[in-house]
Amino acid sequence: MLRKLHLTITRTLLLTLTALATLTLIPDAYAAQEQAVNRVYLQWMFFVTALIVVVVYWNRRLSNEVETRETANHLAQSYLGIINRYVITSRTDLYGNITDVSKAFCDISGYSRDELIGNSHGVIRHPQTDNKVYEELWHTLNQDQSWSGEMCNRRKDGTAYWVAASITADYDQKGKKTGYIAVHQDITDHRIVRELSLRDPLTGLYNRRYFNELFESMLKGTCHQSSHIGLVLLDIDHFKKFNDTYGHQKGDTALAQVAFCLEEVCIRLNKDNHTAQAHAFRLGGEEFALLALLDEEEAEQASEAIRQQVFDLQVEHVNNEGFGVMTCSLGCYSARVNPELPAEPDELFRIADQALYRAKDLGRNRTESANTQLADIELF
Ligand code: GH3
Ligand code: MG
Ligand code: MG
Repeated sequence: MLRKLHLTITRTLLLTLTALATLTLIPDAYAAQEQAVNRVYLQWMFFVTALIVVVVYWNRRLSNEVETRETANHLAQSYLGIINRYVITSRTDLYGNITDVSKAFCDISGYSRDELIGNSHGVIRHPQTDNKVYEELWHTLNQDQSWSGEMCNRRKDGTAYWVAASITADYDQKGKKTGYIAVHQDITDHRIVRELSLRDPLTGLYNRRYFNELFESMLKGTCHQSSHIGLVLLDIDHFKKFNDTYGHQKGDTALAQVAFCLEEVCIRLNKDNHTAQAHAFRLGGEEFALLALLDEEEAEQASEAIRQQVFDLQVEHVNNEGFGVMTCSLGCYSARVNPELPAEPDELFRIADQALYRAKDLGRNRTESANTQLADIELF
């Protein structure tokens, strides 16, 4: 506004000066015809011309500056429009209450701007996101650091979507912290593809790839500190004979039933013990595993619970000598985690596997714990 006023004044001044110079130069020209060029007049003319040049230059500079500013403003508005439409952003106060959201945020969450503003960010929180994620997020932000991570959010219609979020503190012009700005990237498709790549299609359990990944990260102590990792390995007894007797299709159904038993034990473990982090896997063929933060006794109990549940299914298996129903053998082992000196997953697996083979040797349909048999098992 000020600049525009400045420009108008400058232009008026320029016009006035030009008119003045013209009016002055005309009588000068006549005077020159009548008498010799007057030196004072010449100096005066030079001064007026110089002034005009300066004013013209200043005027041009000023109008360029205004033009550049207008272009920059226009560009900034365009960029803000694009950000609003395509970038999922939100602003909150210091307590996590939403103060602003982009259109992209409204689009993905299914809420309108009015429904979100003034509400807590918790409105889009999905129970699937571990409490620990939020604890870590607030801990990081309270230390005046930025936080980045993945979280599952809930749309207004209840469905889930995944975002990779980056949250940083927001400051006013005086440098006082006023809240937080979050920028999210929709990674739902990526999560779906990843989830599919980690699941066994027949049983829906996690597969060997995820087993290896999780086992390694648990042993390195990245998931938790100083606790036990319990590993249970399961192998269905005489499953080849089952297939030979009842056909591959029935075999597949039996595999899914065993998977269900494992899953149920996992759910129970996680419900009874919120720090158990139990996961069930189909490692391949008729071999399964359970991985959880369990001590020796708990691992053995979990193993026995699975064995009993499979037995209780009472799936007919006439060629499973001595039982007549489908049974399984299990080997378990619980190792203390030392993040400073992580154990080799292969070594721990080998120990649990030896316990499983012991269960087979001792007549099947039983659990053998490597912890209670350590004296007999060749370690490392
Ligand atoms: P053991 O008691 O010693 O474990 O004997 P087993 O017959 O269970 O062991 P073995 O390793 O000889 O046989 C495993 C069988 O598992 C062989 C194969 O037919 C069956 N199997 C592996 N994957 C699948 C599958 O996806 N579906 C079905 N139906 N059967 C499978
Ligand atoms: Mg096997
Ligand atoms: Mg078997």
